[in-house]
Amino acid sequence: MKPFPRAEISRHALQHNLTRLRDIAPNSQIMAVVKANGYGHGLLNVAECVGNCTHGADGFGLARLEEALELRDGGVKGRLLLLEGFFRASDLPVLVEHDIETVVHHEFQLEMLAASQLAKPVKVWLKIDSGMHRLGIGIAEFVQAYQKLMDCSSVAKPINLMTHFACADEPQNPLTQQQINQFESLIKGLDGERTLANSAATLFWPQSQADWVRPGIALYGVSPVVGDKGTNHQLIPAMELVSNLIAVRKHKAGDSVGYGAYWTAKQDTILGVVAIGYGDGYPRNAPEGTPVLINGRRVPIVGRVSMDMLTVDLGADAIDQVGDSVQLWGKSLAVEEVAEHIGTIAYELVTKLTPRVAVALL
Ligand code: PLP
Repeated sequence: MKPFPRAEISRHALQHNLTRLRDIAPNSQIMAVVKANGYGHGLLNVAECVGNCTHGADGFGLARLEEALELRDGGVKGRLLLLEGFFRASDLPVLVEHDIETVVHHEFQLEMLAASQLAKPVKVWLKIDSGMHRLGIGIAEFVQAYQKLMDCSSVAKPINLMTHFACADEPQNPLTQQQINQFESLIKGLDGERTLANSAATLFWPQSQADWVRPGIALYGVSPVVGDKGTNHQLIPAMELVSNLIAVRKHKAGDSVGYGAYWTAKQDTILGVVAIGYGDGYPRNAPEGTPVLINGRRVPIVGRVSMDMLTVDLGADAIDQVGDSVQLWGKSLAVEEVAEHIGTIAYELVTKLTPRVAVALL
C-alpha cells in the first residue's frame, strides 16, 4: 500500500520546466535552485532529475553547506553555489575540498577570507546590494570590497558578480529596472560571470537574464506571482500532495466538528476525515472553504485543521468512501490557488511539508 500523505513528484514536469526555462532564457546557463529540500520536492531527487537529463541544469543553488555536501555525497558533479553566503571560517576548507562556490555579501567575510589559509582558492560570487537592502555589499563600498577580494590569495579569480531583486514578481514595479541599472553600472568592464535573475526576473525581466539565471519556484511549475499560475507560463506543477479519506460519516444539521467546535453543519451532511494535518505541514490556519479534491470534485475544509487530520464537507449526496484518494494540491488544484485561500504563498506550502510526508519521484 502506498504511504499517505505523500508528495508525488513528476520527473516529466521537472524536466519539462527546465526545458521551458531554457526557452525563456536561451542565452543563460541555468542554476536550478534546490535549497530547502528542493522546495519540499526532495533535494537529491530534484538535482538528479534535472541534472542528469539532456541539457540538464548547469549548476545548483543552495542555502546551507549541509545541502551542498548532501549533493556531493549523492554524486552530483555540477557547480554548486551557496546563494546566501552562509559560511564560517571553519567551512572554507570544506568548500574548497568539495568545490563548492559561495556568495560573499559582507565586509566581515572579506576579513575572514583575508585571514584564511587554504589549500586552493575558493570560488566566490560578490553579492551587490543594488536595492533590496537585505544582503550585499553597498554601492559605496563596492570598489573597495572588490579590490580586497582581488588582493586576497584565498579567493579564485575572476570574481563572479551577483545581485538579487526585491520586487521582480511585480512586473510594473520600477525598482527592478533601477536595480539592473545600478548593478550594470557598477560592474562595467569587470571580468567574471554575472547573475541577477530569480524565477520572476527570468519570466518578466528578460534584460536581467545575464550569464546565469537562478530559477527556484518556476522549476517546480509554480508561478512566483500572487494571483498567477505556473500553467500560464506553460510550466507544469511538479508536486501532487495526496492523502486518503480515513473516515466518512453522516451528521445532522447542528452537529459541530473538530477542536473548538466552531463549525456547525447547517443541514444534514456527510463529513470526510482526511489523513493530513499540521504535523505534515498542512497549515493549521487553512480557513473553512479551502478546497481539496476528492474523486474529481472540489470539497471544502470545515472545522479546524488538527495535527494528523482535517475534515471536509462531502455533502449530503456524497458517495465517497474510506480509502478514496484526496488531492490537497497538484495538477487539478493549483497550489497557488490553495495558498491564496490560506493567505500565504505557494513557496511556503511546498517547503513546509514535514519529513512525515513521503516524497516519491515518479
Ligand atoms: N536566488 C537567490 C539568491 C535566492 O535567495 C532565491 C530564493 O529565495 C532564488 C534565487 C530563487 O528564487 P525563486 O524561487 O523566486 O526563483
